[in-house]
Amino acid sequence: MNNNYNAIVIGGGFSGLCSSAYLASWGFSVLVCEQASETGGYFRSFNRDGFKFDTGLKAVENAGMLIPMLRQLKLDNKVKLMKSQTALVLPDRFVALQDKKDINLFYETLGNHFPKQRTGLKAVHRESEKISDWVNFLVTIPNPLFEEPKNLIKHLPGWLVRSLPSLARTFSMNQLMEIPLTEFLRRYLSDTELIRILSGLFFYGTPALFGLGYSRIYFDYVYPEGGLQELTSALSEHILEHNGEIRTNTQVKEILVKDGKAFGVRLADGQKVNSDFVVSASDMRHTFLDLIDPAQLEQTYGKRLQHAEIGVPGSKVIARQ
Ligand SMILES: Cc1cc2nc3c(=O)[nH]c(=O)nc-3n(C[C@H](O)[C@H](O)[C@H](O)COP(=O)(O)OP(=O)(O)OC[C@H]3O[C@@H](n4cnc5c(N)ncnc54)[C@H](O)[C@@H]3O)c2cc1C
Repeated sequence: MNNNYNAIVIGGGFSGLCSSAYLASWGFSVLVCEQASETGGYFRSFNRDGFKFDTGLKAVENAGMLIPMLRQLKLDNKVKLMKSQTALVLPDRFVALQDKKDINLFYETLGNHFPKQRTGLKAVHRESEKISDWVNFLVTIPNPLFEEPKNLIKHLPGWLVRSLPSLARTFSMNQLMEIPLTEFLRRYLSDTELIRILSGLFFYGTPALFGLGYSRIYFDYVYPEGGLQELTSALSEHILEHNGEIRTNTQVKEILVKDGKAFGVRLADGQKVNSDFVVSASDMRHTFLDLIDPAQLEQTYGKRLQHAEIGVPGSKVIARQ
């Protein structure tokens, strides 16, 4: 078994597989270490009694990244993405969310059910429109990291002009990350049932920015034909076709660091594997607090992470020069 790689990627979830697919196509020798028995993380499906079930997400947010990324990796022919439709279901009405006018209809319908709350609902709707426009500007960005130059030249100037009013609101929008959705709604509404309807989709403590801006994210959802697993499988095949290696049931216990630079990992079975780079696509707190010797960690950073409330999924590169 090989014991030297250009890059070791910790975690075979969607982030880890994407990082590895790029690294492998650039010619790096890559090892993906996934502690579970299968790759995919939240992006997985399973079959039961002739039906396919997804384990995590309901659909995938494109956010100006997913589609261009599949194109860049030449996987757009392998995975067929469909527009994923969301509907809001009320006791007497089914509102399929396809564009802005459906959101208007949703608030109107709620107003008919809660006539005493109409004024407050109008205010919430107004705020939600502002937030949604801002979210829209974020998710429709022609992303310079993924888009081809010809597409950037075509779409970026128009996007910038359209986004100027939203861009100017960035500061006030960021403040809404600090206010829980339910608290924000209570400023305008007094009916607890109505507040529950508007916030019930989200986990406790969801920021107002996320909860009220979400309606626009629905328009940006896509779904891979055949289930979420199709994305995971396409990325895994791409990695293997480009001479990458994927080890499942393989937990990383330690990132080996010397003089502030990573040079490999130690696995749960004690084996040490060397690499030029270590990419962690695991939870940030787990990466820095469990996998790295505290003596190697910058102290203030370690303390800040210790007090952070939730771990943020994402990719970190700990490079060795
Ligand atoms: C409740 C919820 C709903 C969501 N809904 C949506 C949605 O509808 N649409 C959407 O686009 N996004 C959605 N998201 C966001 C989406 O799920 C994440 O952005 C995405 O799945 C993150 O992928 P990841 O690879 O970073 O993390 P994960 O999928 O968590 O993968 C991390 C992987 O790393 C492995 N790992 C961790 N530590 C180690 C270790 N030490 N050694 C080896 N392996 C390790 C884990 O086993 C796991 O497989 C949702 C998230 C949540 C929590």
